[in-house]
Amino acid sequence: MELQIIKSTNLKKKPDIDSLGFGKYFTDHMFIMEYDTGIGWHDAKIVEYGPISLEPTALIFHYGQETFEGLKAYKNNEGKITLFRPKENFERMNRSNERMCMPKIDVDFVHDALVKLLEIEKDWIPEQPGTSLYIRPVMFATEPALGVKISDKYYFIIILSPVGSYYKEGLAPTSIYVEDFYVRASKGGTGEAKCSGNYASGLKPYELAKEKGFAQVLFLDAEDKKYIEEVGTSNAFFVIGDTIVTSPLGGTILPGMTRNSIITIAKDKGYKVEERLVSIDEIMQAGRDNELKEAFATGTAAVISPIGSLTFKDETITINDNKIGAISQELYDTLTGIQMGSIADKYGWVEYLN
Ligand SMILES: *Cc1c(COP(=O)(O)O)cnc(C)c1O
Repeated sequence: MELQIIKSTNLKKKPDIDSLGFGKYFTDHMFIMEYDTGIGWHDAKIVEYGPISLEPTALIFHYGQETFEGLKAYKNNEGKITLFRPKENFERMNRSNERMCMPKIDVDFVHDALVKLLEIEKDWIPEQPGTSLYIRPVMFATEPALGVKISDKYYFIIILSPVGSYYKEGLAPTSIYVEDFYVRASKGGTGEAKCSGNYASGLKPYELAKEKGFAQVLFLDAEDKKYIEEVGTSNAFFVIGDTIVTSPLGGTILPGMTRNSIITIAKDKGYKVEERLVSIDEIMQAGRDNELKEAFATGTAAVISPIGSLTFKDETITINDNKIGAISQELYDTLTGIQMGSIADKYGWVEYLN
């Protein structure tokens, strides 16, 4: 398939670096391609960023076939444009697509299209420490129809957004509410797919936790309301004694790239890492016994977000005096060091554009 490039003649003024925040500004161009059953993907192009037009009957609006991804491009310490494990994001998207009965994308083709898009938009990649160009691939059903069916038409789009540093004042720990009524995903559901429905169902518990003054929600498993699943839209890690513990990928949890990278780095550094079921009772008891040394959440946007306290029913435990722990900081420094080029990338995770 050919990639057509139609450059915008209407370039925007770049936003002030201090006003970036997350996902508020979008670059001049986007990548878009279309799919039709029987034809496959076609009309791949890089065009001016802007509105798209869909029928009110487009199946995405009614039955929600949608998947997405999130990754980043940044300038490393030497000014090289860097991507982190980008093909694995597209491979994960294909696994999400499989679950949502959506067509696969050609990983190499969309990767190369992303690289072309980034080359065009390279002046949009902010340079200050912690800032990046957030990359959002998204795919959705566009066939106009009201019958419940698998769509025969889709769009796949990549948009780019310059984002500010997540941690203007360092890695600030968050207060977490352990949700014991609402669930994020159940066995056999769509928990391991990165799809919009999972996010829609998480908004209500998040809103209720926010009203109570908490920064995020920790979800428990749907069956027993007993085992840790995820923190908001991030994977959860706990340091119990000298062991790093995280929930296993059993179908209800999103297989985070950051989760995988952190597990790999931690094992390499000689830490004991266990991927196993971990109950909220075990965590609260470890907290009471002073054995819960650290806790943190992982995801592309923040990399590592320390957890300062957990509130379950009427009990709150404070973790490491509400400060980031030494292991969390070490893992954060190592992963971001590899990304920024100050630590050798022995895993082959980092990809350079220039
Ligand atoms: C995207 C996401 C994560 C984090 O995945 P990364 O690949 O590390 O960014 C974790 N949980 C959910 C529900 C997600 O959607």
